[in-house]
Amino acid sequence: MKPPAKIPPATLAKLAKLGIHHRADLLLHLPLRYEDETHLTPIGALDAGVTAQVQGVISHCEVMFRPRRSLICRLQEGNEELTLRFLNFYPSQQKQLAVGKTIRAIGEVRMGYFGLEMVHPKCRAVDDDTPLQQSLTPIYPTTAGLAQPVLRKLIMNALEAIPLTDTLPPALLQKLHLADFGDSLRLLHNPTPDISASTLEARSHAAWRRIKFDELLAQQLSMRVHHRERSKHIAPGLKPQRKLTEALLAKLPFTLTKAQQKVWREISADLAQAHPMQRLLLGDVGSGKTIVAALAALQAIENGYQVAFMAPTEILAEQHYLKLREWLLPLGIEPVWLSGSLKKKEKTAAAERISSGDTLLAIGTHALFQASVEFNKLGLVIVDEQHKFGVQQRLALRNKGKTEATSLLPPSRGKAGMGVDSVSTPASTPTLTLPLHGGGNMHEPHQLMMSATPIPRTLAMSYYADLDVSVIDELPPGRTPIVTKLVSDARREEVFERVRAACLQGRQAYWVCPLIEESDAMEVELQNAIETHQQLSEALPELNVGLAHGRLPPAEKAAVMAAFKSGALQLLVATTVIEVGVDVPNASLMVIDHAERMGLAQLHQLRGRVGRGAAESLCVLLFQQPVSELARARLKIIFENTDGFIIAQQDLQLRGPGELLGARQSGVAMLRFADIREDEDILEQARQIADELLRDLPDVARAHLQRWMANKHDFLQV
Ligand code: ADP
Ligand code: MG
Repeated sequence: MKPPAKIPPATLAKLAKLGIHHRADLLLHLPLRYEDETHLTPIGALDAGVTAQVQGVISHCEVMFRPRRSLICRLQEGNEELTLRFLNFYPSQQKQLAVGKTIRAIGEVRMGYFGLEMVHPKCRAVDDDTPLQQSLTPIYPTTAGLAQPVLRKLIMNALEAIPLTDTLPPALLQKLHLADFGDSLRLLHNPTPDISASTLEARSHAAWRRIKFDELLAQQLSMRVHHRERSKHIAPGLKPQRKLTEALLAKLPFTLTKAQQKVWREISADLAQAHPMQRLLLGDVGSGKTIVAALAALQAIENGYQVAFMAPTEILAEQHYLKLREWLLPLGIEPVWLSGSLKKKEKTAAAERISSGDTLLAIGTHALFQASVEFNKLGLVIVDEQHKFGVQQRLALRNKGKTEATSLLPPSRGKAGMGVDSVSTPASTPTLTLPLHGGGNMHEPHQLMMSATPIPRTLAMSYYADLDVSVIDELPPGRTPIVTKLVSDARREEVFERVRAACLQGRQAYWVCPLIEESDAMEVELQNAIETHQQLSEALPELNVGLAHGRLPPAEKAAVMAAFKSGALQLLVATTVIEVGVDVPNASLMVIDHAERMGLAQLHQLRGRVGRGAAESLCVLLFQQPVSELARARLKIIFENTDGFIIAQQDLQLRGPGELLGARQSGVAMLRFADIREDEDILEQARQIADELLRDLPDVARAHLQRWMANKHDFLQV
């Protein structure tokens, strides 16, 4: 191996900006596109819209000042002419393009004022016998001040210096019809003359397939390894005693659906193990996850262990508290409530009951873990709507964990190399570890994560590969399907009438106010909600209209929600605070104002607030023109579909995985090469092979992870 040439510090800094920290990172800095300088197109054969390389003689060159200062040249080839236009130019360029010079220009052709033209083509002076390039010219993603040729040279050097041995055995490559790793990299950086730019840019070429496979395999391996590592930890084995759980089931006014029974069996079996459960419970809005969580809690409690049940918002946490209280009090279990809005004295009292072991069930917001709460004997942590916990909150938890051994802290995970850090830190799966007190042993609690964000299977496979997943795939019986209507805001008054009619018939309705995304969002949103509340109160004087928004003091918010739940309020005007978890079966009408502003997941969640009782439910999506193309596509999808998984699938097509899961939160979004919308088959393959390798060829798995995740040894500067 040749010793690498010294790279100047200024260049190193630029490379760092591109995420290139080690020499090997250069190898995977793959071209964005290619320029085809392998042949010339006659100027007479050009068409608008194509990118082409042409050659001719400058016949005219002048600086024009209107409409703005620009350099205009005419390039002549025989009788044909092409305009070259430069809006920013240096004197040196002007000199290069002097009349009489022979120029080779490459750029996109478009129709301009004087006929066909190229704006800012790449130009160079040539002779008639200057040879053409033999292969496509790679164009790399770069940053200001780092020119393509410099980057290209660095990459070519790295390609020569670093041995590109394959991490995968030949037999496996053959079986999977995969190309050699080194060949693939060399081809992408330096395509042979027979390859067209379009097959490379479409990323469908066998070389691309190999790189994508490797990336996905590394992702799957790293997540499976994390899963394995965690599953070696010790947790209390919470065997089903079938006392409390059976008692609760006997008291329920309904029986569990088949899907609920299935996931409950899975969870119950996990809890009985002496290793921490790492399970995600996925189920559409209204599919009945809460009762499953309650059963899990009871299995821990009947073994004498404590349970922490955490929800992202106060409203949701309180709903859980009230629901579980209702279910569990008759069994002699009194949950304790802990949230940030409690008075200091109440908080201390709650914390005292938790640390003394006086209570076995604590329900609350993340304050449950921010307050200096010491659990006596924690056996199970349940996190509802886990995707709602922002990165910030999770980081806060982690940082707090560093100083206080008594709080819940997600384990810090190793940082990965080669720019795929996120792959090994899927932020969406906050794993909470906690040393238990008293026992001496370092026990960890079991973890049950719940989510109503239906995500497509491919995304789940990729995103949650480090979790076991249980899915509730049916809704409880007796639900009448929700009818969805799209109504223009011009017909707002008619919607008022519908609300009036429904409420006078004894039903209840939600009116959700628009979401605003500017910097002063909270203020505007609040103002909006207040005005809408006023407008509706005036238009519907015979109804009791309530208002709930994020700025209400928690006690007032709770009072409004309670009044709505009891039926004292017939119409609830709300900001999106009701998005998650509100459960009022008598509410059968949902109006969503400015539905065109909302995302699909949000619309689906909001709509899921109705259709919980026997009455036929209606969801009115009020939209205001102009509606963007994207918004129109969203409204069409929500109008035509009720199945959350189908909606999520379409959302994925519409927006891509990063947006869908929140770019910052998504490990998948950070995949650099693979696109799980298009590469589902590769992902499937990688997933299967990851398990095979870990089982049969652990050394191969290790080598592969090493290449993709841990290039720490091969520094740019030696
Ligand atoms: P989510 O999965 O959205 O959290 P919930 O747990 O809030 O759903 O359940 C929605 C509603 O369905 C609740 O009123 C709950 O009591 C009810 N429910 C749950 N399971 C069943 C069932 N098997 N049969 C009838 N109703 C059920
Ligand atoms: Mg819920």
